[in-house]
Amino acid sequence: MEIILGKMGEVVLKGLNRKTFENRMMRSLRRRLSQIGEYNAYTAQSTVYVEPVEENQNMEQAFDIVRKVFGLVSVSRAFSSEKDITDIINTAKKELAPNLLRARTFKVESRRSDKSFKMKSPEISRTVGAALLKAFPHLKVDVHNPEVIVFVEVRDFAAYVHVDPVPGAGGLPIGTSGKAAVLLSGGIDSPVAAQRMARRGVELEAIHFYSYPYTSERSKQKVITLTEILSEYCGDIRMHIVPFTKIQEAISANCPEEYFTILMRRSMMRISEQIALRNKCESLITGESLGQVASQTMQAMAVTEQAITMPILRPLVGMDKEEIVQIAREIGTLETSNLPYEDCCTVFTPRRPKTKPRINNVVEVEKAVPFEELEAEAIEETERTVIGK
Ligand code: ATP
Ligand code: MG
Repeated sequence: MEIILGKMGEVVLKGLNRKTFENRMMRSLRRRLSQIGEYNAYTAQSTVYVEPVEENQNMEQAFDIVRKVFGLVSVSRAFSSEKDITDIINTAKKELAPNLLRARTFKVESRRSDKSFKMKSPEISRTVGAALLKAFPHLKVDVHNPEVIVFVEVRDFAAYVHVDPVPGAGGLPIGTSGKAAVLLSGGIDSPVAAQRMARRGVELEAIHFYSYPYTSERSKQKVITLTEILSEYCGDIRMHIVPFTKIQEAISANCPEEYFTILMRRSMMRISEQIALRNKCESLITGESLGQVASQTMQAMAVTEQAITMPILRPLVGMDKEEIVQIAREIGTLETSNLPYEDCCTVFTPRRPKTKPRINNVVEVEKAVPFEELEAEAIEETERTVIGK
C-alpha cells in the first residue's frame, strides 16, 4: 500500500508542549486532507503517517498537502510491507522500479525501530541491496554519492520502503506562535513575508488597502488569489479590505508631495493596528526589505512605526530581492504577484520622496489632514471575507 511519511522537525524539541504542537499540526493536516478524500493520519515515533482509506485515492494530491504542512522537515511517498525480509525486498523491487530503472548507482539505508526484528540494520541493507542488484543488473552500489538511496524502515506496525524524501515546509504548526495581521499588497514581497511568519507558527489575518478607482477590481482579485495560495499553508484566512481612496486623496490635496508615501504608510499602520487589536492579533507583518525603495530606509521605517505601538514584524528586512523572488517561486505566489496591476502606492507616488524623513516634520505636516476621522470611517467601511480553499 502506498502511504506518505512525514518527519517532524522542531516540534519534537518542544518538550512539554510537544503534544499541543502535534495536535495543532495534525488538525491542520486532517482538515486539508478531508477536502480531497478519506485518509487516516496519525503520528508515531516523530513521524506522521498518511494512509488512504480506500484503494485508488489520489496520493499525488495528498502528497502536495502534506508538503505544505508546517512542522514537517521532510516528506516521502513510501510503500508499506509485511515485517518480513522477503516481502520488503519484493515491495522494493515492485514499487521502486521506476526510480531504480532511471538510476545508475544506489545504496540502501535501513533503520530498525522495532528491535525484535531479527536482522540488524546493516544486515537489512546488505540483503536488500544484493537482491536489488540481482533484479536490476544495470545498477552499481555507490555508498558515497549514490543517485538513489533506498530507505528501509522497520517500525512498530509495518515495514516501509521509499526513495529520497523531499523537503517539507518546515517551521512550527500554525497557531503555536499567536496571531498577527499581515499587510498584504499585490506585490511579490508581502505574500512571502506572510508565508515566512506563518511558517513560524503564526496564525494570519490579512489587511489590504484598496484605492478604487485608482486601482481596479482586478488588483483586488489578485490579492484574493494570493490569499488563497497562502491558505493552502495556513488554513482559512480572514481578509480585511480597507477603502483607502479618501485618505490618499486628502493627503495629496493637503500635504507636500515628498511626504505622500510616509504619510500614507503611517495611516496604513494606524488603521492596521486598530483592525489587529479588534481581532486579537499581537503584531503586524509587512514585506519591507531594507533599502529596497525610498520608503524602506531605516529612517523611513522608524518614522513609519512611530505611528503605532504594536510591534511590526519584517521577516524580509535583511533579504535581497533575488532571495525573495526565489521563495515566492517556491511557495507558489510569484506567478500571481507578477501579473500586472496598479499598486495603490504608485498612483500617489512622489517624484522625489523623502528618504530621511524627520518625525517632527512629519507630525507637523500630518496636521493638515483629519486622519482620525478619515481612518475611523475607513475602518467602519472595511469589508471582511474569509478566504480558503
Ligand atoms: P510588496 O512587494 O509587498 O508590494 P513593495 O516592495 O511594493 O512590497 P511597498 O509598496 O513600500 O513595498 O510596501 C511595503 C509593505 O507595505 C508591503 O510589503 C506590504 O506589507 C505593505 N503594503 C503596501 N501597499 C499595501 C496595500 N495596498 N495593502 C496592504 N499592504 C500594503
Ligand atoms: Mg507593492
